Amino acid sequence: MINESEIRITETGRSRAAAMERFTRDLWKALTPSLMPDPRRPGWSEGYLFEVCQAGISRLAADPRSQPMASRSLFTAARSLMRAQDQLRVSQIIDAHFSRARSYFDAERGPAGTAGSTPRCAALNRKGKPCGREPIWGTPFCVSHTVRPRAAA
Ligand SMILES: [Zn+2]
Repeated sequence: MINESEIRITETGRSRAAAMERFTRDLWKALTPSLMPDPRRPGWSEGYLFEVCQAGISRLAADPRSQPMASRSLFTAARSLMRAQDQLRVSQIIDAHFSRARSYFDAERGPAGTAGSTPRCAALNRKGKPCGREPIWGTPFCVSHTVRPRAAA
């Protein structure tokens, strides 16, 4: 038995997943020109950058108010991979993209907000759908989506 409110949540979830993916890709594309080339591990920085962008956008989707903190932690995670002369540019790009994503996710919540609703994991599963499992307390992600950025190294 599926009721109407469940259908509505599913549709919101789908457009939200698409928006998260779009914001992640846009941000990643804007940042990659500033990456320092790493001949020892070709492609690694690009992959790592994508992961941290995705984690930041997921965090915003789960809680738009976390934007200043999400911006700061993405910059911290990415800065050592970036050209020294591009650091300011990188921080401005992150802020601009995160502000745009924040407005989107704020608007998506609508006037009702999510007060009283159960928090759900903000990550996407392999099919690109929101995971929806219960997040670890105090984080936007469930156990399997808790980001371990260095694990890919
Ligand atoms: Zn999850």
